[in-house]
Amino acid sequence: MVSDVDKEKDSIKVIDFHVHTGTWEMNTPGAREFMLRFYPDAEAHHRQLQDPLWYRDYLAGQGVHYAVVLAEHAPATSSYCPSEWVADYCRDIEMFIPFASLDPHSDAEPASKLEFYVKELGMRGLKLLPSYCFFSPNDAVIYPVYEKAQELDIPVVFHTGSSLIPGTKMRYADPLLLDDVAVDFPKLRIVMAHAGRGFWYDRAFFLSRLHQNLFMDITGLPPGKLLDYFPDLERNSEKILFGSDWPAAPKEIKSNVQAICDLPLNDATIENILYRNAERILFWEGL
Ligand SMILES: [Zn+2]
Repeated sequence: MVSDVDKEKDSIKVIDFHVHTGTWEMNTPGAREFMLRFYPDAEAHHRQLQDPLWYRDYLAGQGVHYAVVLAEHAPATSSYCPSEWVADYCRDIEMFIPFASLDPHSDAEPASKLEFYVKELGMRGLKLLPSYCFFSPNDAVIYPVYEKAQELDIPVVFHTGSSLIPGTKMRYADPLLLDDVAVDFPKLRIVMAHAGRGFWYDRAFFLSRLHQNLFMDITGLPPGKLLDYFPDLERNSEKILFGSDWPAAPKEIKSNVQAICDLPLNDATIENILYRNAERILFWEGL
């Protein structure tokens, strides 16, 4: 039987919802050591991607049509890749969708900073790293940031689940903490990066089914294990997004895309994961 969707990696549309940029030196010594241990090419790739046109061409060669490029404000643990730097890096490259990052707990006036990033620098979303910056995402002190994100109509991505970067604290990465945020900000699109990796897969999956504004990305999860982690994946196919974590991940993006295409999933689910859900979040028309 001929499928409606050509399940070949070269023809299916892909939006990578989770890539990084920045110089190698922006990573902390601990993060650099970690990456080199698991991924010897990490430093070389960081040096290559200093040229945004090289990165654009590399991603296009991997079959990626659009990429969410994340700033990273986590100087205590992983890296400090400033939002301004990322905005500049992504400027004039249509494929790149820049997301800002900040520490909503310790930054002075983070809501107005976010407004500046979006309105003045053209950034299209926000990445927060509670377990890297040691704050609880349901702390009411940071609610003005979510109010601002909701008003600006941009999505917010949270790191959830484990990380092997030294110094991170997992208790802040519990998807359950985002239940409060999803309830208190019903029009805010929230993405749980890494889908509660480790021992919270069921929690992330359940919560994303429960709340219409809560999504999860499968960044860093081996595609071949997806159906072990999420046996009912097809029943939640409108809430799951593809991300690669490049250049902090050893696998080629196109082989991960192909591995997803090879899973025993219906065509609509594969399209949802690889690009339709990302389109819905990025070009949202309101809940
Ligand atoms: Zn990442």
